[in-house]
Amino acid sequence: MIRYVPKAKYSYSAGQAQSVFLNGLKEKKILGTVCNKCKKVYVPPKMYCEECFKPTDGWVELKDEGIVHTAIASFVSWTRDRLEEPIISGTIKLYGSERDYVFPGMFHRICTTYDKVRDMSIIGAKVKAVWNEKRVGSIEDIQCFKEV
Ligand SMILES: [Zn+2]
Repeated sequence: MIRYVPKAKYSYSAGQAQSVFLNGLKEKKILGTVCNKCKKVYVPPKMYCEECFKPTDGWVELKDEGIVHTAIASFVSWTRDRLEEPIISGTIKLYGSERDYVFPGMFHRICTTYDKVRDMSIIGAKVKAVWNEKRVGSIEDIQCFKEV
């Protein structure tokens, strides 16, 4: 048997759209891109509209509030350990665009109880981002979306 622990380091380029998005988070701004043809707002942003097969037309700032569209509870951690308390996450449809259609929405942790996920009462709940005091341009600059 050979035991080997790789010392691999990864470097990830966020790309044009994600870089603007992540820098926006430093300023407590959630930015998406818009397509003027189909009126879609992409959050997280995309440089191309997947509906119209053309470049998106610009940026829009969304509010850090919205409604819970989907939610899941996981009793398995990132390291595959069993958790006593579940991590709850889901998709949040953000407010703030004059356009109605925001796709697919922020996928993030939701500060709520397991019971509200189990009975699905969290779906449609109004939530607001809980921001870190110190932000570094990471999705982790938002701790979670909490019910308001
Ligand atoms: Zn489009």
